[in-house]
Amino acid sequence: PEAVLQEAQKHLLNFNGTGMSVMELSHRSKEYEEVHAGAQQQLRKLLTISEEYEVLLLQGGASLQFSMIPLNLLKEGKIGYYVLTGSWSEKALKEAKKVGSTAIIASSKEEQYRSIPSLKTEPLDEDGAYLHITSNNTIYGTEWKSYPSSSIPLIADMSSDILSKRINVEQFGLIYAGAQKNLGPSGVTVVIMKKDLITTPDDHLPTMLSYETYSKNQSLYNTPPTFSIYLLKLVLDWVEHEGGIEALEKRNQEKAKILYDVIDESDRFYSGHAIPDSRSNMNVTFTLPSEEKTKEFLNLAEEKGFVGLNGHRSVGGCRASIYNAVPVDHVVQLAEFMKWFKARS
Ligand SMILES: *Cc1c(COP(=O)(O)O)cnc(C)c1O
Repeated sequence: PEAVLQEAQKHLLNFNGTGMSVMELSHRSKEYEEVHAGAQQQLRKLLTISEEYEVLLLQGGASLQFSMIPLNLLKEGKIGYYVLTGSWSEKALKEAKKVGSTAIIASSKEEQYRSIPSLKTEPLDEDGAYLHITSNNTIYGTEWKSYPSSSIPLIADMSSDILSKRINVEQFGLIYAGAQKNLGPSGVTVVIMKKDLITTPDDHLPTMLSYETYSKNQSLYNTPPTFSIYLLKLVLDWVEHEGGIEALEKRNQEKAKILYDVIDESDRFYSGHAIPDSRSNMNVTFTLPSEEKTKEFLNLAEEKGFVGLNGHRSVGGCRASIYNAVPVDHVVQLAEFMKWFKARS
């Protein structure tokens, strides 16, 4: 959010009267520790996270969690269950396969990941280590509307929709998110994890890959990404100031509806990639009647100041990412542009 950037700019050279930038402070200093614990506390407050859970601040992005989750939780004789809903879940599964036994319990791959599949069966308690889902599929533009119930720990990659709507943390064993979409700058990864899932690892697991290391040391075992965590704290304070998750959820629904209405009322000039009941409120994906039209659309959009509307390099088409920080007004302007472009075509 622009307000966060301005706040950071204001204190860039002199944080809290220290005469230094946050990035110059020792990560063992009282001033930094306040920022660090403050970010964890604010996240607990916004998401109503109970004391049964740890809030860990890690590095390596969501991508490292694809490996850390099986390394810590996928024990010999157990199965990691995965729901395939797009490229990120495929990548998560690929890493888990290197560690132990896995199974795909549902997938929408056959239909180009246009929907969230329903689980035909539930993974079994006696052999299941966890059930892994991707709550929002950034590339395909689909999002879970309600989460599967499961007797084994439910794990969700929430990188692209954390803090965009209310969730009940108690439904999950572990939630993780790279910060760079809804939480702050890249460099920090949030893991919210049930304490009873944190166990002493086997001797062969490197220290930095064990959740226990972070949990035992308040995520200060080594130097954390201090400036990213400072900005995370500012973003979380901004969320509270905006009225909390409830207010953002309403705003996000409003933003997404504006764009989906343009798509639905365009006589198929724009076609949404996701089927309506699986549509994401964070990433609106659509195509135009031809490659040439898509190119023309993207070029003209860029001229008008709309950047990053091209779809992910793996799927093409168009994608409007309307994360928490995107104001309603920007979405209204994009909708106007889309209508104008259709009319002139
Ligand atoms: C962006 C994204 C990732 C990748 O995150 P990194 O922090 O770059 O590793 C993983 N999963 C989802 C759902 C994403 O949107």
